[in-house]
Amino acid sequence: MPVIAHWVDGKPWQGRGARQGPVYDPATGRVASQVALASAEDVDFAVRSARAAFGGWRSASLPSRTRVLFGFRELLEKHREELALQITREHGKVLADARGEVARGQEVVEFACGIPQLQKGSRSESVSERVDVHSLRQPLGVVAAITPFNFPAMVPLWMVPLAVACGNACVLKPSERDPGASLLLARLLAQAGLPEGVLNVVQGDREAVDALLAHPEIDAVSFVGSTPVARHVYATAAANGKRVQALGGAKNHMVVLPDADLEAAADAAVGAAYGSAGERCMAISVVVAVEPTGDELVARIAARARALRVGDGALPGIEMGPLVTREHRDRVAGYLARGVAEGAELVVDGRGLPIDACPDGFFLGPSLFDRALPSMAIYRDEIFGPVLCVARCASQDEALALVNANPHGNGVALFTRDGAAARRFEREVLVGMVGINVAIPVPVAYYPFGGWGDSLFGDTHLVGPDAVHFYTRGKVVTSRWSEPRRGSPDLGFPGAG
Ligand code: NAD
Repeated sequence: MPVIAHWVDGKPWQGRGARQGPVYDPATGRVASQVALASAEDVDFAVRSARAAFGGWRSASLPSRTRVLFGFRELLEKHREELALQITREHGKVLADARGEVARGQEVVEFACGIPQLQKGSRSESVSERVDVHSLRQPLGVVAAITPFNFPAMVPLWMVPLAVACGNACVLKPSERDPGASLLLARLLAQAGLPEGVLNVVQGDREAVDALLAHPEIDAVSFVGSTPVARHVYATAAANGKRVQALGGAKNHMVVLPDADLEAAADAAVGAAYGSAGERCMAISVVVAVEPTGDELVARIAARARALRVGDGALPGIEMGPLVTREHRDRVAGYLARGVAEGAELVVDGRGLPIDACPDGFFLGPSLFDRALPSMAIYRDEIFGPVLCVARCASQDEALALVNANPHGNGVALFTRDGAAARRFEREVLVGMVGINVAIPVPVAYYPFGGWGDSLFGDTHLVGPDAVHFYTRGKVVTSRWSEPRRGSPDLGFPGAG
């Protein structure tokens, strides 16, 4: 059985800890490999290696740092298929989706290639007599990047390229459920010329995370995962004096106004709810139908959901793959019985869907509830699977209040043809990423990505200019270089003059 190792000092490293965990092929349900699970001692080794590499890397010239990123971008392009297949085999999402994930991650690398421009400071001449001031942004040191299972390439690519572009060293701790992509990314970065130790990868679970959060040589933590773990990471890292951004879970709503194009809205809802089997932080999990759209919208979504082709994501023509593990599939399926018991109407039931070629895979068919209420667990909880709820509202005001009452504020969408309604929604909704007639409004790489409320702990978002700000700290230099007056010390507070 192959063992997925750590990556330290530019090569795979088995670690000293004895613990391992299974990595499944979710389509077959079989264990495909084992992954090393780092001990605190393993984490310490990787962090110290990154610390040792930091000094040289922060002093590397901007063109040499940039060349690594350009080279990495070319290698990602060349290895996109290999990376996508690796993602599909461990995560389960269909190949087209996995290719899209790599492409979106690559956009961040392309943005990071502009680091000479992004990391520029500013200068003011003659702020006082013979005195100039300039500002610069310097790297922090060693950054920990802790990532979730649902985007095993894209989320590491949200963090690592910008952290290293800014001159930091980085220790990546990917999800133990689909760790293979992280090793491939590390190998490609090494091939592109990233010096040994500037990116280390520690495989592992909460033990590795807690060791990173406590390690004195970690200066900052970027985390993406579920809300309870994000809260823990934020509180622990901050208590240990680290800069931290921790992105959490979501419960994204899509509001459909009566004037919307219902065909387009139904297509968008199905793509956003069932794509990647609902395992996206930007997935739509509640459609808010503003009456009288409810009956028609539910009928159209149900017809499309029933027609989706579910199976092994590596096969052509398949639109939805399995869930990541058996436990997660069973947890998601449990919500179907729970929703019925709570009084919601189960319009499409994905349980028991026969997948002839893969009888042991972790499959659950697309499922649809109508008349979900905020008091129900299916409405409140982040299910993170192919279960879409429809809630009905009498007016746009009621729909907006429903969205704003939700503790999560990651993404939201509004479908309408009314510009004034859209403008008001965009201004008043308490959510970080808003789509107008766009169901999954993931910003492009030169804008920041992040939610509000329980979807983000910290104040800077990922990606875009926010990331450059997060991965650097400012310094302001006030200098006097012309001939000073000698023999008459000035005891006054330096002021303008
Ligand atoms: P998770 O919180 O279980 O795991 C995330 C990371 O934390 C993993 O590396 C894992 O090993 C580690 N971890 C898990 N439990 C831990 C614990 N108790 N203590 C310390 N570390 C722990 O999340 P997941 O199931 O891998 O990913 C899905 C979640 O991530 C969903 O909630 C989804 O909404 C969220 N997510 C959010 C965004 C966003 O941008 N806000 C993006 C992608 C995923």
